Amino acid sequence: GETAPVRRFDAQDLARWLPPRKATSHKGDYGKLLVVGGDSGTAGAIRMTGEAALRTGAGLVRVLTHEDNIGPILTARPELMVDTLSEQRLEQALAWADVIAIGPGLGQREWAQKALKKVAASEKPMLWDADALNLLAINADNRQNRIITPHPGEAARLLGISASEVESDRLHAAQALAKRYGGVVVLKGAGTVIASSAGEIAITDVGNAGMASGGMGDVLSGIIAALLGQKLALFEAACAGCVAHGATADAIARQRGTRGMLATDLFELLWQFVNPEM
Ligand code: AMP
Ligand code: MG
Repeated sequence: GETAPVRRFDAQDLARWLPPRKATSHKGDYGKLLVVGGDSGTAGAIRMTGEAALRTGAGLVRVLTHEDNIGPILTARPELMVDTLSEQRLEQALAWADVIAIGPGLGQREWAQKALKKVAASEKPMLWDADALNLLAINADNRQNRIITPHPGEAARLLGISASEVESDRLHAAQALAKRYGGVVVLKGAGTVIASSAGEIAITDVGNAGMASGGMGDVLSGIIAALLGQKLALFEAACAGCVAHGATADAIARQRGTRGMLATDLFELLWQFVNPEM
């Protein structure tokens, strides 16, 4: 098929994607985000997604999760609005939201499957990650209003091939995912590839091996969802989000190396990259 040439991008491009906030703006201008995930026992993932969205300038972030997670999440981050995920509440929140992110810590029980099905009926811009992708691999569909953010293992499941086959031709794997599932694909890992079903394709070298640690992908999901809420188009939100995420980790690596880097460490330095005018 026909594809555009592969675009390369880095932190220099952030100023082009992220306009300064208007002096007269209010929180409604920066997106009402709904974040869905966190089965019992996995409060951490969805909390990191929610906090990353706040740190990327989302106006309001609402988390729907298992009731066990509400206390821990609120204690860690009182700016989040956290509630139990029920069918009725999800319907109401889907009507309220501008953007939806689903998957981190979601699990694959019936509870998760039901929530994903409801979310899938929305026409709003959305991001699917983690267990939402494991469920997508079982129950495939093709949607234009969605970003998916698989790591090589999730990409392999989505394509029905092995992770080493994904890694042997990452550009091709990202394009194949975009064609099969629609919308925009972020194929994570060293040399993150972003591809759209419209044929756009881009790659960035930002990021480092310190990011090979739990929670990093959950943070990326929140960053990208927040950019969707600030009205970036799907492809631009994906590119800008990946570069802000990777460049922040690179800044940490310059200060204190890669070993022992935590996903939540990114929150200390993310401001430098999501405020490129600074
Ligand atoms: P996940 O596997 O879902 O936690 O996502 C991991 C995140 O860290 C993704 O954004 C990856 O692109 C990034 N990452 C992991 N390992 C590396 C690496 N060796 N080099 C660059 N980025 C990485
Ligand atoms: Mg992940």
